[in-house]
Amino acid sequence: MITHNLKIYNTLSGKKEKLKPIKGRKITIFVCGVTVFDFPHIGHARTYIFFDSFVKYLKQIGFNVFYLQNITNLDDKIIARAREKRVEPKNLALAFEKEYLKAMKDLSINSVAKYARATSYIKEIISQAKRLTDKGYAYKIDGDGIYYDISKFKNYGKLSGRTVLAAEDSVSRIDYSKDKKNRGDFCLWKFKQEEAEPSWSSPFGKGRPGWHIEDTAITEKFFGSQYDIHGGGRDLIFPHHEAEISQMEAISGKKPFVKYWMHTGFLTVNGQKMSKSIGNFITISDFLKRYSSQQLRFLLMKNLWRSPINYSESIMIEVRLSLEKIEEFLQKIQIQNSKSQKNSKLIKDFKINFYKELDDDFNTPKAFAVMFEFIKRINEFLEKEECSVGLSKKEADEIYNFFEKINNIFGIIDFKKIKKLTIPLEVKKLINARKKYRNEQNWQKADEIRIEIEKQGYLVEDTKTGQIIKNIK
Ligand code: AMP
Repeated sequence: MITHNLKIYNTLSGKKEKLKPIKGRKITIFVCGVTVFDFPHIGHARTYIFFDSFVKYLKQIGFNVFYLQNITNLDDKIIARAREKRVEPKNLALAFEKEYLKAMKDLSINSVAKYARATSYIKEIISQAKRLTDKGYAYKIDGDGIYYDISKFKNYGKLSGRTVLAAEDSVSRIDYSKDKKNRGDFCLWKFKQEEAEPSWSSPFGKGRPGWHIEDTAITEKFFGSQYDIHGGGRDLIFPHHEAEISQMEAISGKKPFVKYWMHTGFLTVNGQKMSKSIGNFITISDFLKRYSSQQLRFLLMKNLWRSPINYSESIMIEVRLSLEKIEEFLQKIQIQNSKSQKNSKLIKDFKINFYKELDDDFNTPKAFAVMFEFIKRINEFLEKEECSVGLSKKEADEIYNFFEKINNIFGIIDFKKIKKLTIPLEVKKLINARKKYRNEQNWQKADEIRIEIEKQGYLVEDTKTGQIIKNIK
């Protein structure tokens, strides 16, 4: 039994902290979802594959996780794009929501328990805007909307390190108004400006929600006023997540609104964030025409979750070779049937060290380095063994099962390709004998045995790291 002591880096404290959920083993996690006005790209995948793997890990080590994600299906960009395409904003959003969910499925991202569409929570959004107004945190600008007054919230800036005066960047999306009290004030409710705009009735007047309030309304509905983990890409730290803290802590008076804030590093191209607005993106569906979901997941997870990854075609070669190494290894260990168990300690240490790295801020580059070192050591051991098949069946099974467990978290190995082989004892003996002849450089005998093995329905391939067996029946 391995005891886990998971630490994660928390943007709020700027430190790695032990993960201690509010309620025992139950974890509530919310990750900001996409704004559905275009096709999802592999930059999005960087964030969502990380959280998918992380949540799967939390579950594997015994937490009971509720993973919630919103879908921003109402926003200025959606309205603008719909106008361009001469379609209803809600139809445009629905079409791209479908694309997004399909891409998630294609990437085996299946840990989200609930996708919450913003427009299904208008009642909750209005209630939050109303409470903020009643408490004096929000004010009305006639003919424009209801705005949050950031100067009223004492702890404004605690996540991003900005001050009220340095908050000018929050002028984004629907937050612009020349009549605001502070440049960083943001919109909670925008009054209807044009006939074609989607709108809802509210005590303030007809209109639509601001961006930041959508998320706090959804999380309050599902988790209450405090929860464990909030995630998203680094671009969301400011103003989005700063605004969320200001809203929810002002409403509830409880601190902290969220215990751990986790922000992923960007997927970049030539150092620039991959994004829809810059136009330097590769859609997930285009990417999957050339590479597998396993390859994308490995590319994204072999880097630390909060570090940037610079994408280029050339890194895909390295990805392919690394995954082939794992596949060949798993194929190879299936013929092992030695009587002696010489590797129990190596296997045990591998498991301990692999988890040790994941428990330290989910350090996947280090965990994968432990995995490849283990593969190398076992390969070397098998090469050295005079009479091949140096692992016992029990050891080989233990390794295979552990890789399956790893894969349940990361989804990087295509196990369909490595169909579990059941090799008859007869064939195993032939494989042993062939290796012996090869070691003696008796190529003729080795070839005769290869033919014999093929007659039995198995194919032997010689790789740099030894023989691998495939079923040809
Ligand atoms: P958006 O649809 O732009 O609101 O993005 C949805 C989520 O994907 C946010 O958490 C973003 O931070 C994240 N995201 C978008 N582009 C990238 C990228 N290039 N690298 C990492 N995360 C990204």
